[in-house]
Amino acid sequence: MTQAVGLPTLTPPTAPLSAFYENALHAMELGDPALYGLLDDELHRQRETLALVASCSPVNPAALLAEGSFFANVTAEGYPGRRFHAGCVNVDKVEELAVERAKQAFGARYANVQPHSASTANQVVMNSLLKPGDPILGLDLDAGGHLSHGAKVNLSGKIFEAHSYGLGADGLIDYEEVRAQALAHRPKLIIAGTTAYPRTLDWAAFRAIADEVGAYLLADITHIAGLVVAGLHPSPLAHAHVVTTCTHKQLYGPRGGLIMLGDSADMVLPTGRTLQQTLNTGLFPLIQGAPVVNSIAAKAYALGAATTPEFAARIHRVRDLAAALAGQLVARGVRVISGGTDNHIVVADVLTSYGVTGVNAEKALEQCGVLVNKNRIVGDTHSAFVTSGVRFGSNSMAARGFDEADVAEVAELVHEVLTDLENTSNNTYALDPALRARVQERIRSICHRRPVAGY
Ligand SMILES: *Cc1c(COP(=O)(O)O)cnc(C)c1O
Repeated sequence: MTQAVGLPTLTPPTAPLSAFYENALHAMELGDPALYGLLDDELHRQRETLALVASCSPVNPAALLAEGSFFANVTAEGYPGRRFHAGCVNVDKVEELAVERAKQAFGARYANVQPHSASTANQVVMNSLLKPGDPILGLDLDAGGHLSHGAKVNLSGKIFEAHSYGLGADGLIDYEEVRAQALAHRPKLIIAGTTAYPRTLDWAAFRAIADEVGAYLLADITHIAGLVVAGLHPSPLAHAHVVTTCTHKQLYGPRGGLIMLGDSADMVLPTGRTLQQTLNTGLFPLIQGAPVVNSIAAKAYALGAATTPEFAARIHRVRDLAAALAGQLVARGVRVISGGTDNHIVVADVLTSYGVTGVNAEKALEQCGVLVNKNRIVGDTHSAFVTSGVRFGSNSMAARGFDEADVAEVAELVHEVLTDLENTSNNTYALDPALRARVQERIRSICHRRPVAGY
């Protein structure tokens, strides 16, 4: 058989969908073995390592298939029914499906599924509602806030006059301090949302403060979106003016963002336009061009899956496994920030507990097949590149169908590694090679015993 290397086999126009994907796979295998090999390597790496990075989760394979689809070929500037290009008949249906599913999953009145990421979603909200130079107030980056909430290195911190609130010595948000900062700086927007915070947020308290100073409230639920859908974290929709999230951290969907509104959707702004109208144009044409339609198709899949009983059961597991992990660490004398967790995140002070820096713990655990991330903790004396803490997350363990006994086994292995680990400097370490090999083998066998569904 002769065939141009790298080009797919010609298929008759009536060939089924599966022929398209099979051809594509063969074309890559034959035409680009280097890239094909990397895909293969990565699949194996993911199968055999235990990802405890709190900001990720294995994407449902069907969502990946939608994301890898020919919806990528369609340019669709605008919104369903109001596009600037022809050929959007199916694209409109896909976007409407994703919007309806987002509204249903979260109980929202408005959803915009076009943001390329959660950072972009936040940028849309800020630039829709504020003028350059307006004051904003968000959780400090070092205290577990996000870059896009006003960090100096982020556009949000350059366009707006960014102020921040921190955490109390107990590692919890101190609402009196939030209020004091709000009264001092009179922000036009308060951002409630975290990336490394193990506890429940009090949306009503944030809203009361926002009302007191006449600010909009943005709730960024990027980390806890799954818990919110499953009812295991209170929903901010009744409190915040705007809610943003990504679809890839706890919704097991594609990389991308989402903006939602509750009853505030029809609120009329001083411009005479409603909040939803303002956000629609704030996304396109203010910040973005054409949406990534293949990504919206994948969002539609993930948002549909999020309303199933299986998803609710998985998210219950997410919460229970994180609680189990926190309990296992505390039982071994580890200093866990805030003493435990209400969500999927456990932050451990590894410097106090084991005498090792966060970066050394991260690197040593990675060598053993356990992926975590270094994380600054309250009062941290080390930089963000070194840190005194480590953040664990349970999203992937839940997708692997872990139970409490699996968590106990992992906690013991992590404890063994961190106990043996020695800082030779802030970012170099010594770890017994025999221990490393033994733990890696155990982690591999746990991963084989508990594969991610579909992988
Ligand atoms: C991760 C995160 C983001 C950024 O998400 P991207 O989609 O990567 O831009 C925004 N906000 C919070 C709270 C996050 O944790």
